[in-house]
Amino acid sequence: MTASRRSSRSPKETRKKEAPFFIPYGRHTIEEDDIRAVAETLRSPFLTTGPRVGDFEKAVAARVGALAGVAMSSGTAALHAAMAALGLVPGDEVLVPGLSFAATANAVRYVGGTPVFVDCEKDGFNLCPEDAAQKITPRTKAIVPVHFAGQPVQLDAVHRLAHKHNLRVVEDAAHAFGAVYRGRPVGALSDMTMFSFHPVKHITTGEGGMITFTDPSWATPLRSFRHHGINIDVIQRDAQKKWEYDIPSLGFNYRLTDFQCALGLSQLKKADRFLKRREEIVDLYDRWLGGRRDVLLPPRASTGGRHSWHLYVLRLGDEFTPGSRDVLFQKLRDRGIGVQVHYKPIYRLTVYQKEQMGDRGCSRLEAMFPRMISIPLYPALTNAQVKRVAAVLNNTLDEVKRGPS
Ligand SMILES: *Cc1c(COP(=O)(O)O)cnc(C)c1O
Repeated sequence: MTASRRSSRSPKETRKKEAPFFIPYGRHTIEEDDIRAVAETLRSPFLTTGPRVGDFEKAVAARVGALAGVAMSSGTAALHAAMAALGLVPGDEVLVPGLSFAATANAVRYVGGTPVFVDCEKDGFNLCPEDAAQKITPRTKAIVPVHFAGQPVQLDAVHRLAHKHNLRVVEDAAHAFGAVYRGRPVGALSDMTMFSFHPVKHITTGEGGMITFTDPSWATPLRSFRHHGINIDVIQRDAQKKWEYDIPSLGFNYRLTDFQCALGLSQLKKADRFLKRREEIVDLYDRWLGGRRDVLLPPRASTGGRHSWHLYVLRLGDEFTPGSRDVLFQKLRDRGIGVQVHYKPIYRLTVYQKEQMGDRGCSRLEAMFPRMISIPLYPALTNAQVKRVAAVLNNTLDEVKRGPS
């Protein structure tokens, strides 16, 4: 299995040959009881808008210490609903990290708002509260912190800022199911919190998401937004056999099906096992990569917190030239290791460049981004696979640092 042997094959042949050994950066864990739960629901009277939806909402809310949750067809739909519930109007500005998946900023755009991109903190991936403070204007209405990779954001600083400037706080916790900030689970710490149940996230419903909250007044706008904007009293009155409904303001069909919620309920029972396995893998990576002085290991949670380890993101040190990350990426992919880059800064994407929502002074992120690479992390990885990733990575890092010979 040498590099030279592999490079003698055509790319297509290589893919075919390597496929069984390819380790992706993330993937779901579906077990027999998950399948049974979905099958059972498929045989039940309700495929959608049935009892499993409320059960899943209650179970997730209880798990994260929130009053309630509203399930949505995706995490992105959930963020869209949250932005609509805030009552944002065109021209309103929302602070979002430059480093996140595009959906964080896209959701702001869906309601006509303007995302304003915040730089990273000095030695980490999460948004920098001081930089956020400098970017506040009279039009700023909200801030959407992202617990990047699952590392809890310094919420105290974010909340102080929000209080001072009368901003709403909606957490993008797509990476942070199971994360804890200062002894309290993420999910009930801000106005609203969004979770995603995409297959690479901690628990999955195929596609799916949820907004959790503690103030009961969010429930009605979120539920009606998910259901075409139909006024919610009527949805509830359905049981009383009344036909009339109204749509006071536009909504979408963002419902999550009952069989997806059945899967979510089944997955939720395993969440602690999944989280623990992610932590074990992180400990192994830290051990097998920790001896290197030329890479920075991902930061841990601060005191009283729990990192939920959605991603394991390495940063290449100054020993590496700026182009090294992409060389490393290609070599690792060729060797069956599914590395990934999370993420290209959102303001660099064409759709943001076109609208001139370009770089708003995210110099730390600009310096860090070309040095970031994510390596495989998901509960189903075996110790042998983790060892293989670490061994191949160690060799490839040495090779890339030496440069072309
Ligand atoms: C996955 C993700 C989303 C979107 O969630 P979907 O369920 O895929 O729509 C939003 N923000 C971040 C940071 C994510 O990782």
